[in-house]
Amino acid sequence: MSYARVLCVGLVGVEGHLVEVEADLSPGLPAVVLTGLPDTALHEARDRVRAAVVNSGQSWPNRRITVNLLPATVPKHGSAFDVAIACALLAGAGELPPAALEGVVVLGELGLDGAVRPIRGVLPMVAAAARAGISRVIVPLGNAREATVVPGMTVRGVDSLHRLVAYVRGEDRLLEPPPAQPPQASGGPDLADVAGQELGRYALEVAAAGGHHLALIGPPGAGKTMLAERLPSLLPELDDTSALEVTALQSIAGVLPPDGGLVRRPPFQAPHHSASLAALVGGGSGLARPGALSLAHRGVLFLDEAPEFANATLQALRQPLESGRVRLARARGSTEYPARVQVVLAANPCPCANPAGDQFCVCPATARRRYLAKLSGPLLDRIDIQIRIQPLSAAQLMTTTGPAESSALVAARVAEARAAAAERWSEAGWRVNAEVPGSHLRRPPWRLAARDTAALRAGLDRGSLSARGFDRILRLAWSIADLDGRDRPTGSDVHEAAQLRMGEAHDRRDQT
Ligand SMILES: [Zn+2]
Repeated sequence: MSYARVLCVGLVGVEGHLVEVEADLSPGLPAVVLTGLPDTALHEARDRVRAAVVNSGQSWPNRRITVNLLPATVPKHGSAFDVAIACALLAGAGELPPAALEGVVVLGELGLDGAVRPIRGVLPMVAAAARAGISRVIVPLGNAREATVVPGMTVRGVDSLHRLVAYVRGEDRLLEPPPAQPPQASGGPDLADVAGQELGRYALEVAAAGGHHLALIGPPGAGKTMLAERLPSLLPELDDTSALEVTALQSIAGVLPPDGGLVRRPPFQAPHHSASLAALVGGGSGLARPGALSLAHRGVLFLDEAPEFANATLQALRQPLESGRVRLARARGSTEYPARVQVVLAANPCPCANPAGDQFCVCPATARRRYLAKLSGPLLDRIDIQIRIQPLSAAQLMTTTGPAESSALVAARVAEARAAAAERWSEAGWRVNAEVPGSHLRRPPWRLAARDTAALRAGLDRGSLSARGFDRILRLAWSIADLDGRDRPTGSDVHEAAQLRMGEAHDRRDQT
C-alpha cells in the first residue's frame, strides 16, 4: 500500500474545516510535491517534516511523494498540518499501520528535531472536529488542556513524532492532558479600591447595566484608568457561546494560558496609543492574529489617551464598532473575527495635560478644541456616556469614610438591570439598552411622558442639545430606571441621564 490519509483541521477566521491530508508514494525520482492551496508556511512544512522524520529515527522514503490537502477550497495557513503530513507519508510508505489513525484528527507543528510543538487555534480546530462527528484528537501536549474544553472529545497529547510513531505501532502511550487548574477567583481589580469619584463610579455602573460605551475626560491622576479597569468586574460572566468564542480567539492569538480552561470573565484589553494597526485590529501573515479589538470581544476595549492614537487607527475602529466584526484583507480572500466590544475611552482635556487641572492649562484655545475634536467623528458619536472627572481633593479624600461599595455588590444590581432590559427588548432581539435605536425609544409604547422630557425638548429647541444627544439621554434613562428597578424612566431618571452627558455640554462651551 503506498497511499494513506490522516485527518487535520484548517482555520478560516474562527471557523474550522476538516482537512484530509493524503500521501501517495510512487516509484520515480525522489521528490516531495505538496498540493491543495498551500501557503508559504506549508512549503516550509516539507523541509520540517523531512528533518523531523529523519531525526526521529525513521528512514525517509526515497520515492516520489505527493501530499495533497483536501478540500482545495479551504485556505490552509500555518504549521498545524506538519504532524498529519508526517503520519500520512510514513503510513503511505508502509512504516505505520494505515488504519491506526482512522477517524482521529491529528494537529501539531514539528520541530527539526522531531519535537511536536504547540500551535495557535487548537480550541476552534477541535470544536470543528467535534461538529464533524470526530471524537478523538491528538494534539501537542502544550495544547492538550485547551482541547479538553470541547465537550465529549477524547484528547491525547504528544510531545514528539517519535512517541506518536511508537504509539501507532502499539509500543508506547500518548500523554494525558494536564489536570485543569482550579478557576481563579475573578481576582481582577475591585471597585472597592476607588475612593470617592461618585460620578465616575455611577457612570461605570450605568455603562455596565446598559452596555453603553463610556468616555472619561479628565486630567492625569483623576482615576480614569482605575475606573476603566474595573468595568469588567461589573459585567456578568460569559454565557457558554460567548465563552467559547472568547477562548477560541485567545487560542488563535496564542495568548491562552497553557493550564487555562474556558474563559468565563469578560476580557479587558488596553492597547497603547502607539500600537500598530495590526496590533489593534489584527493581521500578520499566515493565520491572521486577532488584534486587541477581537481579544476584547464580549468585554472591554480601553483606549487610554485616545486623542494620541493615529487618525487611521481611530478610523479603523469605526466599522467594527458598528458591525461587531473585524474584516482583515488577506492575500486569498479575507478573514473575519468577531469584535463586539464595550469601549471605554479616556482623554486628557487638552494636549498639555496639566495635572493641576484645567485652570493651569497652557494650551491655546485652538489646540484645546482640536484635541478632543479628533475623537468626535469616528468615536464620540457612538459613545453614550461622556463625563468629566477631576482628581480627588485632599478635603474630599479626608471626608470619604469607610470602604467603597465592592464590585460584587454593584455587579448584582447590574445583573438585575440587564435581565430587565433583555426581557423588555427580547422580541426585537436587543440584549442591552445601548443597542436600541433612538427612533424606537421616541415612539409609543416606549415614548416617555411629555413632562418628563420637557427640559430635553427645550434644549433641542435652543440648539444646546443635538438630536443624537437626545436619543443618547433616552437610552441612558432606561438603564438608570432598570438599575433602580422601575419599569419606565421618570423625569428624574432623564435628569440624571443628562448628567452623564456633561461632556457634550463642555465641548460646546469650548467651541464657542
Ligand atoms: Zn492644556
